[in-house]
Amino acid sequence: MNCKEFESYIPAFIDKKLDYKTMEEFREHYASCDVCREELSIQFLVSVGIQHLDNDDDNFDLYSELKKRLVSNEKQIVRHKIYKQSQRYILTLGCILLGLLLIWHLG
Ligand SMILES: [Zn+2]
Repeated sequence: MNCKEFESYIPAFIDKKLDYKTMEEFREHYASCDVCREELSIQFLVSVGIQHLDNDDDNFDLYSELKKRLVSNEKQIVRHKIYKQSQRYILTLGCILLGLLLIWHLG
């Protein structure tokens, strides 16, 4: 992902609409690019901050909210990966069992 792409995904990130694959690339770029980190902070502050102004929430800490969101996304990605891997594992296991069953019946 380059800076231009990253910037175009910021609104989707704020709305929590990024898919897992994009989120992973998004986070990778976030970790490696100072300019985009700054850009994301600003856009996040502006859009989420305005939402919370309406709520009259004085204790709201935007930076920790941003961090929290990045971390929770990380957890989601890990969970998603484990889920995908176990799916593949079960599928493989099923195929092996089916193969054994066939061999057993034919033999
Ligand atoms: Zn960048």
